[in-house]
Amino acid sequence: MTKVFVRSVGYDYGRVRSAVFEIMDSMGGESIDSGMNVLVKPNLLAPAFPENAVLTHHSIVKAAVEYALDRGATVQVSDSPATGSFQRILKGSGIGEALRELPVLCRPFERSLRLPAEPPFTQLELAEEALKADIIINLPKMKTHSQMLLTLAVKNLFGCVVGLRKPEWHMKTGVNRIAFARVLVQVYAALKPSFNILDGVLAMEGQGPGKSGTPRKVGVILGSKNAVALDVAVCRMLGVAPEDLLTNMAAGELGLMPPDIQVEGTLPFIADYRMPHVGSVVFGPEMFHGILRRHFVQRPEIEESSCKLCGECWKFCPAHALERTNEKVRFDYDRCIRCYCCLEVCPYGAISAQEPPAGRALSKTVRTFFRAFSSP
Ligand code: SF4
Ligand code: SF4
Repeated sequence: MTKVFVRSVGYDYGRVRSAVFEIMDSMGGESIDSGMNVLVKPNLLAPAFPENAVLTHHSIVKAAVEYALDRGATVQVSDSPATGSFQRILKGSGIGEALRELPVLCRPFERSLRLPAEPPFTQLELAEEALKADIIINLPKMKTHSQMLLTLAVKNLFGCVVGLRKPEWHMKTGVNRIAFARVLVQVYAALKPSFNILDGVLAMEGQGPGKSGTPRKVGVILGSKNAVALDVAVCRMLGVAPEDLLTNMAAGELGLMPPDIQVEGTLPFIADYRMPHVGSVVFGPEMFHGILRRHFVQRPEIEESSCKLCGECWKFCPAHALERTNEKVRFDYDRCIRCYCCLEVCPYGAISAQEPPAGRALSKTVRTFFRAFSSP
């Protein structure tokens, strides 16, 4: 029996601390011993404020750090942000201030170690400090994800892939979302965090996981020793079939899906959570893939009035599908692999996933057709 613990809270520090300590005790946090190296891995994607709901909230990071320090461990807080300096992220998120007086090391991952991977991949390169930690406390933020539907406990560990290795993985797996989900699950299997605590207090819906998403108050913290079980519980909470989250499906393939998941505490049911539209990027006969992708498949688009031409999107794009011309950012949709890294890193929320006009017209026709045939 794999347990997932749920507590309803806001961000009042006293209540967050009690909830995190209770959940850690329930998960067997007493196994943290003096002299152990504990790595706390929040979601530190990019510079953002707590009200943007992009990053794990500072109160949850602080509570997890305090728990490990109370057990006598040496504690480090790290991630490999997609964009922006680590110091700016600590400052804007409030994490730097929250941890200011605690004996904890905060720094970005820099060095990787190689390890063999399951076929079709040959090897993974993951942050040395994550591989060498005695205990990992994984602190994901509950957010939608325009490519992978949701980013939860398993996906959060992709932050242990250092720097530009991340876009490389996007490029290697290309438009194949299932292949990317398999990479994510292999990263999880290599790191196997001991504890996972998800910040679902101020979560994100819509076009996450960056600033294009919309903050949504949910008011829960979930914890589990098993990241896959935690992700399945979130799917239940949001009315998503667990296999629709491709990391769950890939975990099942690799024999990492726990057979029996039990939720302790009150798991709310949120029927109206706004999910991104995530469809297949390739469909139809192969000879038409190019034209279908260009005209019918959802793609990133820029709201020009919000774009400050800062360059983050074209610097990060793994497919080099973006360029600046005539004071505008242009996409090459033939190259674009729909990874939505550009949407993730845009500091101004200027990029969103949109269906092209032909795709919109087709969807409308299909909906009208089904409505006509399903009405009594
Ligand atoms: S779309 Fe966003 S990331 Fe790209 S240049 Fe404009 S503001 Fe910067
Ligand atoms: S343009 Fe955006 S979605 Fe397309 S490949 Fe580049 S980063 Fe990914």
